[in-house]
Amino acid sequence: MSETIQTLLQENRSFPPSPEFIAQANVSDPEIYAKAAADPEAFWESWAKQLDWFEPWHTVCEFTPPDAKWFVGGKLNATYNCVDRHANGARKDKPAIIWEAEPGNSRTITYGELKDEVSRLANAFKALGVGKGDRVSVYMPMVPELAYVMLACARIGAAHSVVFGGFSAESLEERTNDADCKLIVTADGGWRRGHIVPLKATVDEAMDLGCPSVSHVLVLKHVGPEGTLTNGLAAPKYNEGVWQEGRDVWWHEIVPQQSTDCPCEPMDSEDLLFILYTSGSTGKPKGIVHTTGGYMTGTYATSKWVFDLKDEDIHFCTADCGWVTGHSYVVYGPMANGATVLMYEGAPDTPDKDRLWRIIEKHKATILYTAPTAIRAFMKWGTQYPDRCDMSSLRLLGSVGEPINPEAWIWYHETIGKGRCPVVDTWWQTETGAIMITALPGITATKPGSATQPFPGISVSVYSESGVGNQITGPGVTGKAGGGFLVLTKPWPSMTRGIFNDPARFQRTYWSRFENAYFAGDGVKLDEEGYLWLLGRVDDIMLVSGHNISTMEVESALVDHPSVAEAAVIGKTHDLKGQAISAFVILRGGHENHPGLVDELKGHVAHKIGALARPDDIFVCAELPKTRSGKIMRRLLRDVAEGRALGDTTTLADPAVVALLKDKYESSES
Ligand code: ATP
Ligand code: MG
Repeated sequence: MSETIQTLLQENRSFPPSPEFIAQANVSDPEIYAKAAADPEAFWESWAKQLDWFEPWHTVCEFTPPDAKWFVGGKLNATYNCVDRHANGARKDKPAIIWEAEPGNSRTITYGELKDEVSRLANAFKALGVGKGDRVSVYMPMVPELAYVMLACARIGAAHSVVFGGFSAESLEERTNDADCKLIVTADGGWRRGHIVPLKATVDEAMDLGCPSVSHVLVLKHVGPEGTLTNGLAAPKYNEGVWQEGRDVWWHEIVPQQSTDCPCEPMDSEDLLFILYTSGSTGKPKGIVHTTGGYMTGTYATSKWVFDLKDEDIHFCTADCGWVTGHSYVVYGPMANGATVLMYEGAPDTPDKDRLWRIIEKHKATILYTAPTAIRAFMKWGTQYPDRCDMSSLRLLGSVGEPINPEAWIWYHETIGKGRCPVVDTWWQTETGAIMITALPGITATKPGSATQPFPGISVSVYSESGVGNQITGPGVTGKAGGGFLVLTKPWPSMTRGIFNDPARFQRTYWSRFENAYFAGDGVKLDEEGYLWLLGRVDDIMLVSGHNISTMEVESALVDHPSVAEAAVIGKTHDLKGQAISAFVILRGGHENHPGLVDELKGHVAHKIGALARPDDIFVCAELPKTRSGKIMRRLLRDVAEGRALGDTTTLADPAVVALLKDKYESSES
């Protein structure tokens, strides 16, 4: 394998923060980077002190790779920090959650109400035999009650394992058993594109497959006749599942009568807060473990600085709580800051493709945090949808989940942010707990497609094959420009404490590639000005005629063409070159495939980044195989292009997409 990952794409546009933004920003002094780098422990300690602790810590950090402990000896409670300290003070009547559902109804819950709701539910958990040290499997729609469940678990010291409500019975069963959960919390159903997703029926199936540790299933009536959501509309037909007396318990029959008095369990800083399974883009999901003190410190700090979160903000993160983004930036981070969060249950194109923009208009969201996959879908649908909505309340935009192509970044900045709103591209993982690489909106001059610099206190390195590279700790810190492996060289508070029940896999996956450094699995490039450009997963990077080329760069060049909305690029086995570049593209709304288009696209890539990156073949398709969290699964496209049987498709959003693609691809070849 060649020594470094080639980087080819050039992007020189730069967007410095406006003087108005700087003047009001939570942080605007570039010196904070050097200060944090000089003493990261003192930096993180200053954040931890902004949380409420029942007992102080005696040691800030103990680290023997791969094992880290933060704020050792300290005692705190995550829910106390997210709810009680606001409800008991000036934010009692401040909205904590504004929720809107697909049929159009909405609800607002204040911090005072949130405290009562969470406390009642926590008492109900106790009545069902759940206590400190137990684990709870959560399979719910994106309703306020989902946040209550997470916070009620944390209140009594039980750990939650939220499983995205789109996963199958097998996936739920696998995760519930892996985490050895005592209770499953679900709802009768949830809304998606005018239909009802039958959650309880899927839990029944998972229970039939066998979840021996589960003694009860707690069911929220949400879409059914006496549910809270239907907004006067009759719920469409759906599978209600089968009620099992003794095992199944209705939420409304046990929760409302509980007392609102439920003290917060004092938790050790290193006690388990939750387990969350990764989205499975690269294979079997890993049960990522997060503990209390460090995770709360990391999510609190990043929420405040990356999103410039203020008391007046309406923070709209579109991620489901089934993903880490929903954990850290719908619930724990913003709520630790006492913010108002906006939650939406439903699809972004129901009833029409302007739904997200209508929600922003209606609730006057000020911050929008979403994923490149969504942004590219919005681009594909066209600007007429955002253009007909008033989104002047927005003041900051964020992106997470995949590398954002420069063209999608520019579209987001111009069409959604009207050029006024800083865009923060945030790189992080389920494993990192909180944002690691990002612009700070009051400091950083952003470049479209670059996640810019590490958050203060974080040390990133771009390693060569042999594990050499400078530590990058902020703007202006440069090293050898070029591509390599993304590693984190110092411990940070919100880092995962491991894979649940599998320390060997933890060691092997993240800590064996390089000595004493966390290997994230992603490729990254450092440019001459010290900016970091994420290149996608190392497994996805292609080896063409002896050059490692990032799939992401070729995809960005394709998306740069006016007719392309989305692209997925893979390396296909080739006799002479080792791998040949193969691309799958989706066209933008209003554009059709025509003879000559494929050659035009190949030429466009060669023009943008050089002949080396010219794709050998380009296949125009209607959809790409994606995970439930919207990430393209390139390993399946490699299976398609190389004519193999498809690998594990259980974490796909829609397995039919890849089967159809395979058929079409094969018939186009013959
Ligand atoms: P699995 O580990 O099971 O394959 P996953 O990696 O998709 O699943 P997540 O933890 O949700 O699960 O995603 C983290 C990954 O997402 C990162 O390692 C990176 O590849 C990608 N990613 C997230 N944010 C960004 C970003 N801003 N820029 C580039 N890539 C990103
Ligand atoms: Mg991963």
